[in-house]
Amino acid sequence: MITKQHLSVAVFGDVDSGKSTTCGHLVFKLGEVNQRKIDELKALAEKEGKSSFGFAYVMDRTKAERSRGITIDVTMLKFNTNKYNYTIIDTPGHKDFVKNMITGTAQADVGILIVTAEKGGFEAGFCQGGQTKEHVLLAYTLGLRQIIVCVNKMDDKLVNFSEERFENIKSEVSLYLQKIGFNLKNVSFIPISGYIGHNLTEKSESMPWYKGNTVLEALDSVTPPTRPVEKDLRIPIQGIYKVDGIGIVVSGRVESGVLQTNKSICFAPYEGKANTKLEVRSIEAHHTKLSEGMPGDNIGFNVKNLEYKDISKGAVCGYVGERAPRECESFEAQVIVINHPGSIKKGYCPVVNVHQASVSCEFEEIVKKIDRKTGASIEENPSFIKNGECAIVKLKPRKAVCVETFANNAPLGRFIIRDMKVVVAIGIIKSVNYK
Ligand code: GDP
Repeated sequence: MITKQHLSVAVFGDVDSGKSTTCGHLVFKLGEVNQRKIDELKALAEKEGKSSFGFAYVMDRTKAERSRGITIDVTMLKFNTNKYNYTIIDTPGHKDFVKNMITGTAQADVGILIVTAEKGGFEAGFCQGGQTKEHVLLAYTLGLRQIIVCVNKMDDKLVNFSEERFENIKSEVSLYLQKIGFNLKNVSFIPISGYIGHNLTEKSESMPWYKGNTVLEALDSVTPPTRPVEKDLRIPIQGIYKVDGIGIVVSGRVESGVLQTNKSICFAPYEGKANTKLEVRSIEAHHTKLSEGMPGDNIGFNVKNLEYKDISKGAVCGYVGERAPRECESFEAQVIVINHPGSIKKGYCPVVNVHQASVSCEFEEIVKKIDRKTGASIEENPSFIKNGECAIVKLKPRKAVCVETFANNAPLGRFIIRDMKVVVAIGIIKSVNYK
């Protein structure tokens, strides 16, 4: 029986910054993996010529289990502290990292940003065209407001636990976070060594100048977001699985409302037979049966009468009735262009990532260019918009998708626009025309 509150943590940062090592070590320290397993993984890493990757394999092990098929806790690793139950959302080494980051972060309550303190390493990752900045911007757009910044590899020979190096990185990253919109009150900076274990769960003796929280303390100081239990049930579907002897299991995070067993549910979009009665048979998280799925829970649930082909990733689950989730015809949104090589005109048709859905949408109209801060109109019906500009636009999805206004249900109302794998714009939904 789970009683402690549950928080989801998204871990992000550049490749090789030490995400897997840090997470693996943290989970080990919190007793989720035993010494024998760690020794085994270290031996395995050694055998594969990657001796320093022992802890990283804790994360990769879950990945391996996942690829075998039926595990429904998709990209998840869990650990508990005295205060909360956590789920770490990450798939280290994923090739299409941005896409992965979008679906992962869209489910997170708090982010851990890992940057390396290595000379040149931080500069390459954070300053010169590295992806860290883009990830941070995406995280903010996706609703993340609390971040723990871990300055990793403080044990590196050239860094040698230098307070000056830590402070320099801290001010550089702070400046950027502030520019994006983060309130620094909700951001903490911790100098760590994920590999050796400094400042993860115990204060490091090698950095007596650091008086702040350990990673564990920082996680336990997170303010849990309010969980919208009163709102209509909405679960954007992340995965659909055929499980032998059980049937169809779908996974996702409950964004609002409460999922209960033996109730009639529906999906939008849904391609099954219209009158089929879909019912929730059982709910679980991390292989533990739950009596209900609350907002913020990453769950898997078994649905009676659902067939594999009836829904796809990005469908939204809700209760049957007047307030059921619905497909939209088009929607009006406020967008900010951040990285488009030319200009965006009517007819442009990039990919929109909204909750777990990924769908091509056409710019049907550019209604007006507006001032980013005040919202005042600058130009009605402009012929194009370009980088740095903010506009109200009308978007028409090319295939069925369920969205809602940002004001009504934020996780279903914010999106990222991508083209050729690059994030070109971000936006929030102002109004929806339903079918
Ligand atoms: P990821 O790609 O961000 O998940 O990074 P990994 O966790 O796979 O680590 C990449 C490399 O950095 C590995 O060789 C790790 O052993 C090394 N590494 C990770 N954390 C530390 C650290 O705290 N100190 C040092 N010196 N090396 C580290």
